[in-house]
Amino acid sequence: MTDNNNTDYRRKYGMDEPPQADNKVVDRVLANERLHGDLFTRDSGELFDPVRTPQMYETAQAALRRLHAGMALPADRDGLGCVVFGEDDTPPQQVRFDHHDDRRDTFTPLDPDDPAVYVWFVGTTLVNVIRGPKPVGAFDLATRGPDTSRRGVDYYADMLRLMMELREMSTVWPRECNVEVSRGCDGPTQLLPYRAGTFLLVFEVCEPCLTYVKAATDTGYELSVMEAYARAGLPFP
Ligand SMILES: [Zn+2]
Repeated sequence: MTDNNNTDYRRKYGMDEPPQADNKVVDRVLANERLHGDLFTRDSGELFDPVRTPQMYETAQAALRRLHAGMALPADRDGLGCVVFGEDDTPPQQVRFDHHDDRRDTFTPLDPDDPAVYVWFVGTTLVNVIRGPKPVGAFDLATRGPDTSRRGVDYYADMLRLMMELREMSTVWPRECNVEVSRGCDGPTQLLPYRAGTFLLVFEVCEPCLTYVKAATDTGYELSVMEAYARAGLPFP
């Protein structure tokens, strides 16, 4: 792919723009009751705050950059798209998009007219694509009603739950911390979700790293409050 093509893709899919805050599909996935108890039990957004925990923010951004770079590549033969991952010193790793919908149901990454959620368990080789209802024309809508051929949010909610249960039992699921911010980084991990617009990244975080991140977030908060007071010329209360 040439640089020109790459620029076109980036523009077409708005890759350099801020995450879409208003995405009904994302909202519905996150609001799904059956997922709430597990994956989305806490609001982890503050742990990735660019001001309070720049290290974590950078970790998340690096992961997002890898996904975005891959999305700028042309889709592979079966139209599902592929991503080639690879840091400077690691061999490339191919990651596939899978929407579990009909093969003839064309998939275009980040199609603004066909909103989707991209769920990626960081470090695995699969990006799950949860799409909204298939867009249909006015005539079809009037004569046949809405298209219900897609799997939808509930199907994925069940699947993600199953994946999480299997993860608990599995010896093959990658259970290594991929946050790696603490010097004591080691031991069993838990899932740490991070939402950026239409992307849902799920990190594995070990206890020492989570403790470190929480402490850094609190300290970062105090520092930013002090800074704000200083900027306003007020004494710190
Ligand atoms: Zn760790």
